[in-house]
This record gives sequence, structure tokens and C-alpha cells, in this order.
Amino acid sequence: MTNIVPNLTLNDGHTIPQLGFGVFMVEPAETTRIVADALEVGYRHIDTAAIYGNEAGVGAALGASGIDRSELFITTKLWNTRQGTQSAFDAFDESLDKLGLDYVDLYLIHWPTPKNDRYVESWKALEKIRETGRARSIGVSNFLVPHLERLLDETDVVPVVNQIELHPALQQREVTEYCREQGIAIESWGPLGQGKYPLFDEPAVANAAAEHGVTPAQVVIRWHLQLGNIVFPKSNRRERMQENFEVFGFELSEAQVAAISDLERDGRVGSHPNELN
Ligand code: NAD
Repeated sequence: MTNIVPNLTLNDGHTIPQLGFGVFMVEPAETTRIVADALEVGYRHIDTAAIYGNEAGVGAALGASGIDRSELFITTKLWNTRQGTQSAFDAFDESLDKLGLDYVDLYLIHWPTPKNDRYVESWKALEKIRETGRARSIGVSNFLVPHLERLLDETDVVPVVNQIELHPALQQREVTEYCREQGIAIESWGPLGQGKYPLFDEPAVANAAAEHGVTPAQVVIRWHLQLGNIVFPKSNRRERMQENFEVFGFELSEAQVAAISDLERDGRVGSHPNELN
């Protein structure tokens, strides 16, 4: 069943399943059960972070699943307070240890925290980690154009992805366009608007759902996929995990995609990257 999820090729030649499962706000104690459910549903790409406090639970579910490591795609992230050189190496070792893995597929700088001015130094540390093979690919999260420009000017490796808040109400066109020009794939976090916007009641979404006989959540996930973005909606509930995975049996028309793209309203639900320090 998992092979229905398309793989995208990143700028370093590695591939990533375009649809995954995110575990932000998943309680550590519940994580193993929830990730085990997601793996059973068919997800093979899991997005976690050190700050979520649930890497050990993710690792336990991966270990118990019996799924071959080569079929899994695991992302984790360097938290802001660990930016630097040795602190980033140490944080990475701790994450790998908690996950119980020999390598992660993708390691990200979680936020630029520009006032601390350590993201360039941190990126050089990630370049070194990548050289060891313990992170197959490296990328960033919540980076705006000026932050990316500095990395491209001052370091050697172009990030494979930029993971940013992106949903119909906040499409971040400036940074997404820059990333496409530079060959940096976009990962949409909060793809359903974290449930904070009434996206599902919008006629553009509700009408498309009715026309295809699917749910509004499936329409929004499909919109992300058709735009070429990588997406990993989160749900603790198995029936919703299943629903969010069943998005390959229909296709939105160009007009439906355009109508959903018209829902842009600068509707940020998370922090602004310049303000989180
Ligand atoms: P999301 O947009 O995926 O929203 C999740 C919420 O949507 C759920 O809690 C649930 O209430 C609702 N939902 C899910 N499926 C549904 C369905 N089928 N029908 C109705 N409601 C449904 O938000 P998210 O979890 O914040 O984002 C996804 C992932 O992105 C996270 O789990 C995490 O891995 C990542 N993320 C990264 C950052 C970052 O700074 N890099 C920040 C936030 C999230």
C-alpha cells in the first residue's frame, strides 16, 4: 500500500516520500501507539523534532514494526538552544540515540532564530554531520529568503528542503518561489492550518470535496500534493490517519486548485521566523 505514495528526488539525489506523518504535540507516552498506528496505515515518512520530546517513542515504534530501515524516511530537528558547533553535534547524537537509529534521513535546523546569529555556524555543523553519513540529507525549517541567501553565500551545501508553515490561508509565495529557483523542496507544516482556520468550511474546499466524494481534509492534502509540496498531516486518531493517507484516488482540477489558492489571507497560525528567538 505504501508504494502508492510518490517519492520526490531531493537536490542531493536522495528521495523522500511526498506524504508523511507528523508528531508535533503528540504526547511522549502516547507516541509509540500513535506511530505504530501510522506505520500500519502505511505511512513510511515520520517527521519529529528534539523539542517534541517524543523521539524515543518514535524510535520504539520503528523498532517494534519490523519494517526494513531502508523503507523508512525519518526526519528530526536541531532545537534553537542547541545551535552552534559542538552543541549541535551533541544534540544530534542525543536525537539519534533516542530514536535508536544509526542514521536519520533528514536533519533540519528547526528555526533560524536570527537574533542569536548562529544559524550559519549551525549549518556548517550539519554539513559535517552529513559527511559522516549519519544524516543522509540536511535542510532547514522556517527560513525566510534573507536567511537562505546567507547560507547559500557563506556555506557549501544547499539545503534539500525548507519546512515552513504553509496551508491555503498562508502560502508564503516569496520564500516558496525563491526555494523553487534554488532547487530547495518545500515541506508544508501545519498543512491543515492546525485546525485553527475554518478552512474546511470554505466553499472552494467544501465544493471540491462534494464533487470528488472525499472529505475537506483530503482536498486540502491533495492541494498540497498537486502543488508539489511535501506534507505530513498529524492526527492522533487512526481513522483520520487513514483518511489523510487516502488521497491518491482522485485529482483536483486546475480550477479547483486555483480556487483553493485564492484563500490566501496571510493567516499565520504559528510564530513568525524573525520573532522566535
Ligand atoms: P496540521 O495542520 O497537520 O493539523 C493537525 C490537526 O488537524 C490535528 O490535531 C487535528 O485536530 C486536525 N486534523 C487532522 N486530520 C484531520 C482530518 N482528517 N479531519 C479533520 N481534522 C483533522 O498541523 P501540525 O501537526 O502542526 O503540522 C503537521 C506536522 O508539521 C507536525 O506534526 C510536525 O511534524 C510539523 N510541524 C513543524 C513545525 C516547524 O516549526 N518545523 C511546526 C509545526 C508543525
